[in-house]
Formats: sequence, C-alpha cells, structure tokens
Amino acid sequence: MITPLIDGFQQFRDDFFGEDKSFFSRLVQRGQKPKIMVISCADSRVDPAILFGTRPGELFMVRNVANLIPPYAPDAGLHGVSAAIEFGVRDLMVEHLVVLGHAFCGGIQALCTHHRHLAEKGEVPETSNREFIHSWINIASPAMATIDLKNWQDSFQHDAEQAAIRNSMQNLNSFPWIIEAIEAGKLQIHGWWFDMENGALWGLDKEQDKFVRLVPKTDKA
Ligand SMILES: [Zn+2]
Repeated sequence: MITPLIDGFQQFRDDFFGEDKSFFSRLVQRGQKPKIMVISCADSRVDPAILFGTRPGELFMVRNVANLIPPYAPDAGLHGVSAAIEFGVRDLMVEHLVVLGHAFCGGIQALCTHHRHLAEKGEVPETSNREFIHSWINIASPAMATIDLKNWQDSFQHDAEQAAIRNSMQNLNSFPWIIEAIEAGKLQIHGWWFDMENGALWGLDKEQDKFVRLVPKTDKA
C-alpha cells in the first residue's frame, strides 16, 4: 500500500523537480517566503495545495482535526498550532491567514453529536476511549451556541462547520501580535468553507456577517 507513494515521489522527481531544477534550488537558497498561511483540516479530502493550485513555497500550512485554532495561551503547554501561527505571522510575516473549513468534517460532526446528546438528554454522553480528540474539538464548543441542537436538521452540520470557522477566527484575535499585525495593515484574516459535495468555495463576508459563495460566482458557472 505504501509503494504508490514511493512511485509518486519518483514521478514528482521526474516531472516537477526535473523540469525546472532551478525552482527548488531557488527555494533552497532564498528560503521560504510564503505570503499566505492556511489552517486546514487533516481530512484527506481537503488538500489546500491541490484546491488552490499552489506550488511549493507558496502556502505556509498547518493542518489539524477540524481546522481549529486554540485561544492564546502562553503557558508551558505544547501548543503546536499556536507555534506554527507564531512562526507564520511573526517570522515569515504572512500577509493573509486563511482558516479553511469544509463540508462533512468528521471532527465537527463528533462535536455536534456530543452537544446534541447534551441538549436532548441534559447529560454529558459517555466519553469514548479516545484520548485526545474530545478535548481538542472542544475548542469549537462556543460555536455550538449558535446551533438549534434540539431541533436538529442534517444541514445544521454545515452551519456548525461555518460557526467553528468563525470561532477559530475569534480565537486568532486573542493573539496580541495578530491584532497588532491586523491593525498595522500587514495581515488579513479570511474564513473559507469548502463545499466538497458541490465543488464550491464559500467565504465569510465580514460586512454581511455571513458566508457567501466565492466560486462558482453564478449558478451557471
Ligand atoms: Zn474536517
């Protein structure tokens, strides 16, 4: 099963790497200077480089379960996501930071299931034997306050996914150096949602305070 990856690398070497040898040597000599950071889900169906047609060196990326951003917590904890954001914003000085959520996110589904149980039965469901996932997805729990959990409809899962993106964006605003960069006009935050069912990209319109479809621009496209 792993052999296709070795073959895939051979293909990459033959085609991409071999086609323009100076491309990677430039990246090696100059180092990376990406202007955009993407925080996306670990979901195997959501690959930002493929979705956005970018080349190596263009996207600084961190992927985790449900594309979550924890609140600013400068303590002794092992904050992998916050460390990546810190490096992206303070050292690479990216100009855009995209929180990329997606439809049918398993992490958000698990969060919805937990909160639905809580809303319907008034009790915390029995915890599973997973050791890390529950406390991780709990980061997005504030987003659940916007969902009518007692009158659940399947489409609410997508509302929850988008609410979780907003929650992550709010958490970004708890990092003092992110606020500084935004106020200095050096950084913009974007919340996007990939509708993998329809091949569409939606973005949070801050003025309208709702997600609007970015691609396709019209139903005919
Ligand atoms: Zn996901």
